Amino acid sequence: MSKGLCIRDIHVEYGSRVALSGISLDVAPAQIVSLVGSNGAGKTSTLRAIMGLRSPSKGEISFGGARIDGMSTPEIVARGIALSPEGRRVFPRMSVHDNLFVGGYLQPQGAHLHKSVERMFDFFPKLRQRRSQMAGSLSGGEQQMLAIARALMAAPKVLLLDEPSLGLAPIMVQEIGRLIQTINKEQGLSIVLVEQNASLALRLCHYAYVLENGRIALSGPGPELVKSDYVQRAYLGV
Ligand code: ATP
Repeated sequence: MSKGLCIRDIHVEYGSRVALSGISLDVAPAQIVSLVGSNGAGKTSTLRAIMGLRSPSKGEISFGGARIDGMSTPEIVARGIALSPEGRRVFPRMSVHDNLFVGGYLQPQGAHLHKSVERMFDFFPKLRQRRSQMAGSLSGGEQQMLAIARALMAAPKVLLLDEPSLGLAPIMVQEIGRLIQTINKEQGLSIVLVEQNASLALRLCHYAYVLENGRIALSGPGPELVKSDYVQRAYLGV
């Protein structure tokens, strides 16, 4: 059975509105997999289903060979999947340090948690400089780093990133891109990258899925999709 994350034919509805109608995808260990698609294509709904935030009406999600659809979100986090949500959602009136502490809430308390925060500061030196500052006073790029670091505090095997480049200046987008690759390489994490910035997402990933109207329209290795006429016209503005 697959060790990675495996989604088979999931369907998700919000009342009478169909968000996903039969999504299947695989995320192998240590891979970066991108989900690209326009507004409303179903990218966030896919991540919400993985995290147990929205139950699929049909289909299966498994991780490490075990079914996880139907589990609670804390159970899914404890199994090794963490989400950095769209819009970052840091706690603005809490310090950078305390935001990270909250991210580690499922870890054993005490010295272990302090060590994890320090490790995060080693990895994100900019956050160490701002450790006592309120998260709401950080720049957009710094808040994005904090949101990623907070998700990493759960010590996941799979990190789900929802639109990490949204609203950031181009130079910061490049920095976040490098960071995603470093996390993948140095920590051996699988990353599911949801992006409207198709150019960034296809450049960074090992494999990508193009979502349209709640279905997979196309999939393949990032460098191959970049060359596809359809992707170039529809998503890369060529
Ligand atoms: P975006 O980039 O805008 O977040 P997306 O690709 O992530 O787009 P989803 O947010 O998954 O797309 O939305 C898929 C479909 O489900 C859309 O038609 C959207 O309007 C609908 N939808 C999403 N959330 C809700 C909700 N809470 N209530 C009703 N409909 C919803």
